[in-house]
Amino acid sequence: MRILVTGGAGFLGSHLIGRLLAEGHEVVCHDNLLTGRIANVAKHLANPVFTFVKHDVIATIRVEGPLDEIYNLACPASPLKYELDPIHTFETSVLGAENMLELARLKDARILQASTSEVYGDPETSPQVEDYRGLVNTFGPRACYDEGKRAAEMLFYEYGIHRGIETRIARIFNTYGPRMAPDDGRVVSTFIVQALTGQPLTIFGAGDQTRSFCYVDDLVDGLIRLMRAPEGTKAPVNLGNPGEFTIKELAQLVLEKTGSSSELSYRELPQDDPHQRRPDISRARNLLGWQPTVPLLEGLDRTIDYFREELDTGSLPMWM
Ligand code: NAD
Ligand code: UDP
Repeated sequence: MRILVTGGAGFLGSHLIGRLLAEGHEVVCHDNLLTGRIANVAKHLANPVFTFVKHDVIATIRVEGPLDEIYNLACPASPLKYELDPIHTFETSVLGAENMLELARLKDARILQASTSEVYGDPETSPQVEDYRGLVNTFGPRACYDEGKRAAEMLFYEYGIHRGIETRIARIFNTYGPRMAPDDGRVVSTFIVQALTGQPLTIFGAGDQTRSFCYVDDLVDGLIRLMRAPEGTKAPVNLGNPGEFTIKELAQLVLEKTGSSSELSYRELPQDDPHQRRPDISRARNLLGWQPTVPLLEGLDRTIDYFREELDTGSLPMWM
């Protein structure tokens, strides 16, 4: 197949591209390099079935040749990054989704949207099932991301139901692993880099808020299964690891795993930071036969090894 991945130079996109190329597909990557790095796909640049195009999904683009599938991943995922230019973040989600849906229509391609557990906002129920409509603030720092992703889901609904496009919506919960940008503020990469460099681990609030962390290989497997699910699988599907940890527990695990003697340093909890997050993955289990296989303790080891190596080779200080 010939497959377009937007946001392919980012953390998830680069792992997805690796898998698709390994399966023997031709891959086109569109990315404006806002939060991604060309280094993430550098090893594929000489591959004749891989093409990189520096492009912002807000603008329309003409794509030569056929496309069978489009994975729409373009969008900064870290609050620190998506809050830097909120209007651009919102436009990335909404105009980006519309442009890609039109492209899917033109090419008669299947299209998958990387949506997010953030559509549930600060949820009042746990675990979160897909039918839960969420508690989201339209008037706060996270709104550009949450509302942009919600609006994108609405566009996928309309194009799927009324314009005959084969659409897929993955509601992705916190995912971690090698190639996370060390400076993008997400909690797993931040804690690991802090622990490995002897800096205090910055805990926001009391650290009793929870997240469920999915290892990147599991997530990529879920995305591919969802894309290939039988025709008509248009409803949103949660993809994440149901194991739930407080942020303080995560900090302790990172300290143990790295053998670091870094201290814990408490900071103010950011506005609208969700108190709990845990996916109900019954729909993914039933529809896709999917469930995560890598427990947090094992995924952390692999991620720590990656950052340790980056530090040893001197790559990290250049980014930070
Ligand atoms: P990332 O920041 O590493 O990757 C996003 C990529 O999109 C980057 O390469 C960036 O340069 C590119 N991009 C951003 N805006 C763009 C634009 N306007 N035009 C073209 N390219 C643009 O983030 P990630 O963790 O790889 O997330 C990928 C997708 O998955 C995002 O849509 C994100 O919202 C979604 N998601 C991720 C997580 C997670 O935990 N990683 C959770 C929920 C949803
Ligand atoms: N967090 C933290 N210290 C950090 C970065 C994040 O305590 O240095 C917390 C943050 O407040 C949130 C959780 O960790 O409660 C997950 O944050 P992240 O930005 O990784 O993802 P999101 O908030 O989008 O789930």
